[in-house]
Amino acid sequence: MAEMAQLLSPRKIVLNAREESYQRFVNHEQKAVWVKIVEFYIRHVFFGMFYIATIWTYFETISWARALLFTIFMLNVDCVFFGMNHVNTHAYMLMYDINTIEPNGPVPYPFWHHYRNPMLFELLPHQYRMGITGLMAHFYIDLIGYCTGLHPIVSYCLMLAWFADYWTHEYYHTKKYRSLNPFSPQFVGVGLFFGFFECIGFIDCHEHDLHHKVDINHMDEADLWIDFGMPVWKTIIDPVCDLLFYGLKKVINFFKARGYSKKFNENVVVFAEFAEGFVLFPIVGYLQKRWFPELDEVEVTDLRVPSTFITFIFVLNSFFLPWLWGSDRPADKNQTKLTLPTQNPKIFFED
Ligand SMILES: [Zn+2]
Ligand SMILES: [Zn+2]
Repeated sequence: MAEMAQLLSPRKIVLNAREESYQRFVNHEQKAVWVKIVEFYIRHVFFGMFYIATIWTYFETISWARALLFTIFMLNVDCVFFGMNHVNTHAYMLMYDINTIEPNGPVPYPFWHHYRNPMLFELLPHQYRMGITGLMAHFYIDLIGYCTGLHPIVSYCLMLAWFADYWTHEYYHTKKYRSLNPFSPQFVGVGLFFGFFECIGFIDCHEHDLHHKVDINHMDEADLWIDFGMPVWKTIIDPVCDLLFYGLKKVINFFKARGYSKKFNENVVVFAEFAEGFVLFPIVGYLQKRWFPELDEVEVTDLRVPSTFITFIFVLNSFFLPWLWGSDRPADKNQTKLTLPTQNPKIFFED
């Protein structure tokens, strides 16, 4: 009889299994940190320095005012691109069946971040910066930019702005920047840099907090998509992202109702992301030629094809690492005692 009393409800079994899945994910990711740090130095630091040096060759030929205008133009383009990607990520997460015990899909990061532990990125910053959702964007920026004939400097600016987006999101979820070590993700200078952008309205912690208020049972109600954007511009782009999210939900439901598989719908979202790039990038190319025609005279080294190749290796890593580290082994119970700051510890323990 005592045994009977200990039997868990089906709901509890799901919650426990999901929790175990999360713990397993974190354990696994902690083992692979060094690989992502190497990738981070290649992508953000090495390529980042190359991008800045190359963009500088253009800025040297124009006035400061024009350079500022071009920077604003690129930041606003990135705002649209980031918003689209964010919407697609949430559309992808809608496909997770939260009532099954294994919600650990190919993009587990955003899922655990939104619905289990928002502080994940403070714990594993390099994993986030080099995670698969970010890598997909690197892939699009290089490849679609190259295929649609964007000037390399436009692609480079977009990539740098994308890095800033990711670091901004990290800023939202990092409690303190106190390290004096410039190589630390919690370096005080990083906090001050993004704190400055918060002061001038490019970054809004309260808004991001509201974005996180949408819980696992209301995943389709997500909104407030822009992490980093110019004050007025982002309020224009946000409703456009809502519209895109609405459209994607309609498409997913359309196929679901007709019995198409989950896999099929996942591919639909990936395809949509690809297609959005092929719409956005030619528009950006057109506007650049119209507003900044002098850029076409600037000849620079085009690293987009080798960069795509490197992204491809990173993507392979993302898929092979779980296998190399044996992610489907049950978690070692001794290692699962995490001492993380968890903003929403109740999420998976609601009943
Ligand atoms: Zn989100
Ligand atoms: Zn967040």
